[in-house]
Amino acid sequence: MRKSVSIPLLIVPALLVMAAGVLWGLVIRAEQVNAAREAVLRERTDSCAEAARVLSGLDSLYREQLRMDPAPAYDSLAVRMRETYAYSVAYRERARCIPSICPLAMGTFRLTARFGTRQDPIDGDGRMHDGLDLACPQGNPVHVTADGVVSFIDSDIFGYGNCIIVDHGYGYQTRYAHLSVIRTSENIRLKRGDVIGETGVSGRATGPHLHYEVILNGETVDPEDYINEKL
Ligand SMILES: [Zn+2]
Repeated sequence: MRKSVSIPLLIVPALLVMAAGVLWGLVIRAEQVNAAREAVLRERTDSCAEAARVLSGLDSLYREQLRMDPAPAYDSLAVRMRETYAYSVAYRERARCIPSICPLAMGTFRLTARFGTRQDPIDGDGRMHDGLDLACPQGNPVHVTADGVVSFIDSDIFGYGNCIIVDHGYGYQTRYAHLSVIRTSENIRLKRGDVIGETGVSGRATGPHLHYEVILNGETVDPEDYINEKL
């Protein structure tokens, strides 16, 4: 009998101790959560205060350096940034319109005549050669060397043969002569690299080649100065 009474008597305090332990654990946990939350809040408040302090420091520094109200200073900065952006857009636009590539793919031609005075291959007279002669098989694709608009197409059997002139704006034009085929038409807007025709032997030519000219403000200039690769 004594054995059967003593077991429940031991179980009750044990359960009480366990319950108290669980309750204590919950209290501790809640305190830890609160402490963590408070720490985060404090940190956030401190960061905001620090940020405000830094900003006000920068602001006063800015005032001090420029010795004027920050509002006009910020305005002038914004104007300068807008001007710089507009300048960079205009500069990129202009760069696209200045001849800068070879009109034939590298490795597909042989440079047979440079810009300058030379002995004419047909009549032997000393004469100014206004462009480059790039000898290659007939039918080699001819690429426009900068953005522009086709301003002139002609077929002249005694001179340039089938010839295209492209106006690039900013005073620049390019001429592509002795073509076998023309693959564009007047007033077409072109992007640098577009194919405009094929090489040939039309006009005053002794063999298939491209005669290429760069014209700046009405005067021919050395096209080699406007090709970003060594010929
Ligand atoms: Zn030529």
